[in-house]
Amino acid sequence: MSNDEKKNRKHKAAMEKQKAKVDARIEEASAERGVAILLTGNGKGKSSSAFGMVMRALGYGHKVGVVQFIKGVQLSGEEIFLRDHSDQVELYQMGTGFTWNTQDRTADIAAAERTWAVAEPMLRDPSYNLVVLDELTYMIAYKYLDEDRVVSALRNRPLEQSVVVTGRGGGSKLQEIMDTVSEVKEIKHAFKAGIKARQGVDF
Ligand code: ATP
Ligand code: MG
Repeated sequence: MSNDEKKNRKHKAAMEKQKAKVDARIEEASAERGVAILLTGNGKGKSSSAFGMVMRALGYGHKVGVVQFIKGVQLSGEEIFLRDHSDQVELYQMGTGFTWNTQDRTADIAAAERTWAVAEPMLRDPSYNLVVLDELTYMIAYKYLDEDRVVSALRNRPLEQSVVVTGRGGGSKLQEIMDTVSEVKEIKHAFKAGIKARQGVDF
């Protein structure tokens, strides 16, 4: 047997083993329900990933709600796109910018409350298949929103509804109730090499 043949055989055997493992796991997963996903960490890719799921859901004609905490001062590609598809997606933006821009705690809390008042009914409405709460973690971290209230709304959402929360941190209570928690780790970021945030990539 040639070296190549040996390699191919070994690869095939390894893949057969892997397939058996994956198939068994697929067989085991029997629960049919919406999932709660937290995308956190310091690297780039949290909101982009959430909007990737928005696109997936829209592909199936699912009803989607997007609530953006913090964002909404600077225009973004996702905002332009979602406003063009307002028949399929409900979009609400807090629109106050980062807390270090507003520097006004009372106004920030009021804005967070106003925004939560849009998010909470979505988390009670079973007609939404997917709800994205972009940058929600900061509202908890700054104590602009009560953590228990947020956690309870996420937990008590309709069984079939999936929810995606993005933002750094998030706290252990939030992590505990989410089904999937992914941390995007920064290894490098173009910004640190002096490259400007790019239209269509960063916003
Ligand atoms: P994105 O929206 O690109 O997926 P994100 O949601 O993971 O990013 P945010 O903290 O919400 O991260 O940041 C939004 C903006 O800040 C984007 O323009 C993004 O490219 C930039 N950004 C994200 N991570 C970093 C980082 N580690 N250093 C510098 N800029 C970053
Ligand atoms: Mg983000």
